[in-house]
Amino acid sequence: MMELAQEKLNIIYGYQKFREGQERLIYQILNKQSSLAIMPTGSGKSLCYQIPALILDGVTVVVTPLISLMKDQVDSLKHLGIEATYINSTLTSTEEKERLHGLKRQFYKLVYVAPERLAQAKFIDITKRLNISLVAIDEAHCLSQWGHDFRPSYRKIPDWIQQLKEKPTILALTATATNKVKNDLMSHLYLDDDQLVSTGYARSNLTLTVLKNVERVSYVLKYLKANRHSSGILYSTTRKDVEMLYHQLKKEGLSVTYYHGGLSEAERQMNQEKFLFDEASIMIATNAFGMGINKSNVRFIIHYQLPRTIEAYYQEAGRAGRDGEESECILLFSPQDIRTQQYLIEQSNQDPDRQAQEYENLQKMIGYCHTDACLSEYILRYFGESSSKPCGKCYNCKTQGQLIDRTKEAQIILSTIKRLRERYGKTMIAQVVVGSSNQKVKQWNLDDVSTYGLLNSWSLKETTSFIDYLIAEQFLKPTNSSYPVLELTNKALYVLKGQQKIEQRIRENIESVSEDDDIF
Ligand code: ADP
Ligand code: ZN
Repeated sequence: MMELAQEKLNIIYGYQKFREGQERLIYQILNKQSSLAIMPTGSGKSLCYQIPALILDGVTVVVTPLISLMKDQVDSLKHLGIEATYINSTLTSTEEKERLHGLKRQFYKLVYVAPERLAQAKFIDITKRLNISLVAIDEAHCLSQWGHDFRPSYRKIPDWIQQLKEKPTILALTATATNKVKNDLMSHLYLDDDQLVSTGYARSNLTLTVLKNVERVSYVLKYLKANRHSSGILYSTTRKDVEMLYHQLKKEGLSVTYYHGGLSEAERQMNQEKFLFDEASIMIATNAFGMGINKSNVRFIIHYQLPRTIEAYYQEAGRAGRDGEESECILLFSPQDIRTQQYLIEQSNQDPDRQAQEYENLQKMIGYCHTDACLSEYILRYFGESSSKPCGKCYNCKTQGQLIDRTKEAQIILSTIKRLRERYGKTMIAQVVVGSSNQKVKQWNLDDVSTYGLLNSWSLKETTSFIDYLIAEQFLKPTNSSYPVLELTNKALYVLKGQQKIEQRIRENIESVSEDDDIF
């Protein structure tokens, strides 16, 4: 059967060879072995279910969260001469009836649906009796509540599968899953370790950069002007900032368009196409933009603010360089972004477990901005790849900066936390060591602590930023709550005993603080 798969690849798709992971997955699927595929964005996950769909008897159901992209995906399959369709809420009732009828008659090889559809009585009734050979679950991390984009509707997928006449083969696909998410997916889908195909997370053509406290508007302006002829995406957390940036950059004569959830469907479609067809070289957007977008020549992704999780960041950054060419991913970090994200988590009204997880994820993201080590390694480690080596090209690998001994300062902070019995958060600890006369410090007699004011040569901002560094380097661990309390790790005890030195690499850009920061 693999010869048949090879033939489809050559003749229908016009590609020479399978890429890493594709061949093994297709082999497993053709042998009715359900699988979980973890492969980076742009690696060719779609072919892993499309080719088996053509070979297997019966129909392949593709579950995907994005209604707006179903049409494009189906159109491109039809273009290749493949019988495919989608059934979603954008159809008229006549269209829906026709397609359901076609489905019943096994007319299609592939049918795309959103997860909500699987709970609909009419759909269940038809599919219950059908010969469904394969169920492909796109963006499978949405199934796990530990993932960065949990969608409760995804939980309907296993229920629906249970009701089918014969158990189909399942192929779950994602570009981002931590070990915890991976295990969760495997248990929801009843998969074993040998059913997992992971090609790793490394994207060697991406150069990662974190810049702290730069004056963002002028940095972005300078960067975009210098890269005027390339295509790129500028991500921002809020709709308001997206619009502000759009107007500001447009005024400067740059070729920009924008996208966020507050625009009408028609506007979103129009702006998205402007970007896809290179009529506008820069897309300014919230995270509503990009899932499933297949634009190969994106040369840079700039994050104007801190994203909430490493998974979200890597997925967004990963939209650069799908063609394999060198591309840049730049994150502009400022401490006030942390408050914004904490606020969004607080407002999100989720159950406490889920919220605690979100705080932990956010802390890992903050750690990315503060680590001294290779940025690429940090991300790969987050996803559970421990064997990676420094990439040699990210900002941290490239800029040496100056190594400064911070053991004394670290000891002051760590011992303050110990003396206060690990009961306070970052801001309060910082206030104690810089000797703040804040009312609460007085009221709670925190100025009685012997380390009070020992770091009075540092600003509050420098101090909290250094505490973030100590968290990133795992000397401290914040508890997962909206007011995280700092706890010492084992590593911290060695520092307190004077058995371990702390040397921080200070890079030029860190000193060039120029944005106002009134949060702390
Ligand atoms: P993903 O879903 O993993 O992000 P896609 O399935 O959209 O990636 O594939 C990314 C691009 O790679 C598509 O343009 C696809 O046609 C192309 N592609 C997939 N497999 C191959 C292959 N074996 N050889 C060449 N190009 C491929
Ligand atoms: Zn590196």
